[in-house]
Amino acid sequence: MRRLQEREPHHSDLLNKLNILRAGVLGANDGIVSTAGIVIGVAGATANNMTILASGLAGLLAGALSMAGGEYVSVSAQRDTERAAIKQEVHELKTDYAGELDELAEIYHQKGLSEKLARQVAIELMHKDALAAHAEAELHISPRHYVSPCKATLSSLFAFISGALLPLLFITLLPESIKIVGTFIAVLIALIVTGFVSAYLGNIPWKANVLRNTVVGMITMLVTYTVGNIFPI
Ligand SMILES: [Zn+2]
Repeated sequence: MRRLQEREPHHSDLLNKLNILRAGVLGANDGIVSTAGIVIGVAGATANNMTILASGLAGLLAGALSMAGGEYVSVSAQRDTERAAIKQEVHELKTDYAGELDELAEIYHQKGLSEKLARQVAIELMHKDALAAHAEAELHISPRHYVSPCKATLSSLFAFISGALLPLLFITLLPESIKIVGTFIAVLIALIVTGFVSAYLGNIPWKANVLRNTVVGMITMLVTYTVGNIFPI
């Protein structure tokens, strides 16, 4: 299996895509756990399929919208921060080009290049695209590629819903006698998969990750099921 660390650093586009994919898997995982908790809890309180379905749907929508909304707010804030920093950089380049050249040369000198070479690097980079050179070295962002709040919002919405549908479909479609056990098992299998895939994409040991992920899901379902049993409808 090829892991992230073996990939060359200039493949940052690929790395970025894997990070997005991993965020999607984690979003789906959230959808699975929270909706499973709701439907198993309600199924512990009532056998009425419509009640279970309605609660699960409400939970799915509330979870998806709050997650996507939170993503929208935080990514928008990040984009505003980046824009402001770029604006500041544009201003500095306009008003103090020589000072900015010194600054960039100093960054590369700090990184280990000799003073002479660092200066040469700074001159050539700034000759090609001064703003990009500064944005990359100082702010670690690209001035042409802002993170898109809409994309982030839609992908977290989609990820959460796709995860949430799993326990919702199982609990509504399974026959009465195996409704709860069947959903419980389906959720555990799904959590093994998301735990494994997210560990693989994040390049962390998968066994511990799968174990944590399934234990968290199991505890969630056991707690809500117990509470549902204490308060039967
Ligand atoms: Zn600068």
